Amino acid sequence: MPRPIHATIHTEALRHNLARVRLAAPDARVWAIVKANAYGHGIEQAFEGLRGADGFALLDLEEARRVRHLGWRGPILLLEGVFELRDLELCSRLDLWHTVHCDQQIDMLASHKTNVPHRVFLKLNAGMNRLGFTPQRYRAAWTRLNALPQVDEISLMTHFSDADSAPGVAAQMALFAIVTRDLPGERSLSNSAATLRHRVSASDASGQPDALVASDWVRPGIAIYGSAPDFPEHSAHDWGLQPAMTLASKIIATQDLVAGSSVGYGSTFVAQQALRIGIVACGYADGYPRACPSGTPVLVNGVRSRTVGRVSMDMLAVDLTALDQAGVGAGFGSEVTLWGRASNGSVLGIDEVARSGGTIGYELMCALAPRVPVQVAD
Ligand SMILES: *Cc1c(COP(=O)(O)O)cnc(C)c1O
Repeated sequence: MPRPIHATIHTEALRHNLARVRLAAPDARVWAIVKANAYGHGIEQAFEGLRGADGFALLDLEEARRVRHLGWRGPILLLEGVFELRDLELCSRLDLWHTVHCDQQIDMLASHKTNVPHRVFLKLNAGMNRLGFTPQRYRAAWTRLNALPQVDEISLMTHFSDADSAPGVAAQMALFAIVTRDLPGERSLSNSAATLRHRVSASDASGQPDALVASDWVRPGIAIYGSAPDFPEHSAHDWGLQPAMTLASKIIATQDLVAGSSVGYGSTFVAQQALRIGIVACGYADGYPRACPSGTPVLVNGVRSRTVGRVSMDMLAVDLTALDQAGVGAGFGSEVTLWGRASNGSVLGIDEVARSGGTIGYELMCALAPRVPVQVAD
């Protein structure tokens, strides 16, 4: 029998979350962001739940190939554009749209031989200072691109640095509006946080282009996977999102501790009184963060409990004291939900676990280890 750990991808939750995003941006088309192997969910495993999107956006040519291989004939966008001239040939062959964020990418396009002009997304650096043309150089880049026979439609995009917190998007959105004023083309601005927290409909935006810009294409990632972009200010539940990934395993041993006994490497946890614990087949080599201290929430048979002691490579321990029924019997241990949905329907948000480990839900889902078998559920 394989180790009892497995991840489940919930197709219905992906559909639900996509619909939730559409509700927040009713006038926009939706790029489902599937970079990083669909945030760890697996492009193939997530595809059925996300095929209702208007396009797929990702970074990697190999991932683009996989999306085409699944039969997707709609738009695919490379969020970082191409990395070398050769990549443009694949863009032509697979009909990929690509971001243009620097002069080198325009140079490459200018020397690319193609009969079919490319759809590109010209990126403005509105203050994130990762990729994109500065406001001073943006229009010159547009003019240069627009003169190339290799280029078809030019769309305009930016990416906000503070959509998930108090600074918000107003200043960067206003800058985008000023820089792109009068330029034709579709706009793409909002990630999950901007889509959920800073709703702008086309009708709001019309008439006051200096203040607001409607996104023709929104770019949600984390929200479609059912995690809140701005936890703990809002939870996934607050946003009406459902977990798309469950990480579950089983108890493979129990220990009865007397007061003063310690648990795990480094003896970081010491029982203050008699305690029954369960050993779970899940460790940091499965993608469960070692940084999660004692007390991190976990579900045992769908009931909330906590971890005890350090997470080791293949195992961690949970408190069973209040859970008389839980343990190992006849070869079948109790179900342990590390995050996601338990069999009884209870939910443990990935964001809560992430926070306990000092990180964010994004990192946990992306770090799901290859050794964990993934199954797809309706
Ligand atoms: C990853 C990414 C997104 C999605 O961000 P979320 O916070 O997961 O919604 C959107 N746009 C760009 C350019 C990205 O790289």
